Amino acid sequence: MPRCIFCKIVDREVPASIIFEDDEVIAFDDSNPKAPVHVLIIPKVHIETVNNIQAIHHELVGKMFSVASLIAKQLNIAEDGYRLLMNCNKHGGQEVYHIHLHLLGGKQLAWNPAGLKEPG
Ligand code: 5GP
Ligand code: ZN
Repeated sequence: MPRCIFCKIVDREVPASIIFEDDEVIAFDDSNPKAPVHVLIIPKVHIETVNNIQAIHHELVGKMFSVASLIAKQLNIAEDGYRLLMNCNKHGGQEVYHIHLHLLGGKQLAWNPAGLKEPG
């Protein structure tokens, strides 16, 4: 099976504006930002959807949240606040099937989560 676009970002086969990296997690700017700050935090290991998160991933998923809050502090949006979200499968609006935590902020966010299209 072909490797996904986010695995290719991890392996530097596709360029991205990387703002954090350690041995397990990488974070980069979303290429089509929906807010002034729109960063994606992903595990380096390929996990397709939230439905595929297993007990062995719990620490890793927890780290994704810690990295998100660290980046929010570095970008000076922690105090004003921000939104973290993960889309799952079709109804959730998932486009890339490698789990990623969206960090959105830098403005007052409306509560139509991330401005997703209304149900048709
Ligand atoms: P999803 O809809 O799966 O929750 O979010 C996927 C996100 O990945 C979208 O916000 C989209 O703009 C972003 N994205 C898709 N392809 C790329 C890419 O090649 N590079 C970067 N930096 N972001 C991407
Ligand atoms: Zn992947």
